[in-house]
Amino acid sequence: MKTTRTATLAIFALLLTACASQAPDPEDDLGLFWVKNAAEYGAVTRQVYGTATRALPRFIDDTSWTALPGQTGAEKLPAAVILDIDETVINNVDFQISFERPFDNYKLDYWDREHTAQPVPGVVEFVKAARAAGVQIFFLTNRPCEQYEGESEACPQKQTVIEGLQEIGISTEPEFVSLADEQPDWKREKLVRRQLIGESHRVIMVIGDDLGDFIPCARKKVYAPCTEAGTRASRDAAVRKYAEYWGNGWYILPNPMHGSWSSVQ
Ligand SMILES: [Mg+2]
Repeated sequence: MKTTRTATLAIFALLLTACASQAPDPEDDLGLFWVKNAAEYGAVTRQVYGTATRALPRFIDDTSWTALPGQTGAEKLPAAVILDIDETVINNVDFQISFERPFDNYKLDYWDREHTAQPVPGVVEFVKAARAAGVQIFFLTNRPCEQYEGESEACPQKQTVIEGLQEIGISTEPEFVSLADEQPDWKREKLVRRQLIGESHRVIMVIGDDLGDFIPCARKKVYAPCTEAGTRASRDAAVRKYAEYWGNGWYILPNPMHGSWSSVQ
């Protein structure tokens, strides 16, 4: 691919090239090494998506079921699944190995414009099965909308994401993809967007790689309606509180490379 390369992105290309030696050696980073090289990684992700696929009929048929705690009156709404994107649908391990630290959203967007997206093993088959069963798929990512200098488009990252999905064989329409900051109240706290989807659909499954994909207030940074930062203790307590959902409507994929877990105290 891809679309227009801006002057801003060209500068990032030069920086990436110039600083490539600063990228970590994956053999020095067990998380990167495991995702990149371990057959076990693909076994786990296929286990997650296989489990979710086999549960589809049960959750579709049981109209009293919802994977959104607190969702009520959804019996007659169409069924939907919420999927995160990065490390849930698209496997970014090659970017994670290559980019110059620290992370910046521009670097990921630039990488995606220049490289073909890679799927998390098992996701393409899952989405195909869910859609064949009549389930709507919503993609909910915390990649933020950021206007590039010299470009008029308010959210060029959205097209990058949709094209990445297309590259792995999952086509979708913009209305089913939401990015952080796409609307004024769509912050990195995903609760607001999950609840919005819950107004029109019965959410039968949530799939992600970060606790924040499932549980509100899991992050170090506080966004409304949260009033306190997520901590190791609060995150552990939340995992226990919602124990009945894991593997039963909530399906979490391994991500030892990055996530909200890495910054909480
Ligand atoms: Mg993710």
